[in-house]
Amino acid sequence: MGLTKKEIKILKEKMILEKERISSSFVLDAQKLEVNSDQTKDETDQTNADLERSRMLRFRNRDLFYAKKLELALTKLNNGDDYGCCEECGVDIKFERLLARPTAQMCITCKDEAEREESNNFIGRQSKSLNKTFNQVLA
Ligand SMILES: [Zn+2]
Repeated sequence: MGLTKKEIKILKEKMILEKERISSSFVLDAQKLEVNSDQTKDETDQTNADLERSRMLRFRNRDLFYAKKLELALTKLNNGDDYGCCEECGVDIKFERLLARPTAQMCITCKDEAEREESNNFIGRQSKSLNKTFNQVLA
């Protein structure tokens, strides 16, 4: 691990704070949901409440996913395992990058590469479905 004790301590504190932020936002959401269902009067209110609820759930899923990643990263950090090591090429991820994104599992080079591939695939898929549309129009 290419991190100093001080850097590890900073990252650990940051991740614990993030986790606390997520769990306290869960409590807030739960309170909001209760208030919403109490105030529901007619159909429009009901629809709005449903929309609000699904929006919250979406955020919550994302947060849950992030919380799980934080948990994993914290365990790794505590065990002194391969935390801060790029999963792709094995180099030490820079402290600055970890500070910005403590759950990072790839170094910036590999991450860029992966993102480029992803967007290439996306464009590939897009043009494929576009061709299909063209063919359908022509036929
Ligand atoms: Zn890498």
